[in-house]
Amino acid sequence: MLWENQIGGLWPALKGSLNQVAKPCIRPNCAACRAGTKHPAWLLAYSQEGKRRCLYVPQDMVETIKLALKNGRRLEKLLFKMGPALIGDHRQTVKSKKKTPTKS
Ligand SMILES: [Zn+2]
Repeated sequence: MLWENQIGGLWPALKGSLNQVAKPCIRPNCAACRAGTKHPAWLLAYSQEGKRRCLYVPQDMVETIKLALKNGRRLEKLLFKMGPALIGDHRQTVKSKKKTPTKS
């Protein structure tokens, strides 16, 4: 299988970590907030230019983000393979070029 196809199949992809947190709301006298249970929310932690950042993930995007994280891990594994793969491919190409007789 072509490497491009494998990489293309791993979209959407991202790197970071998804954490479930309890978020307080702005409603006055909210029972959940007063009880300390607050409201479940998802927080995506990621790094931007070396700085750690966080974003709240909309509820209807949580599954997409989970998939993207999984793809991100797969993609990273694939990228580690790319060095040896590209060099290996290059060697094969050089070898097959040498095999074909050019002098006649
Ligand atoms: Zn609340």
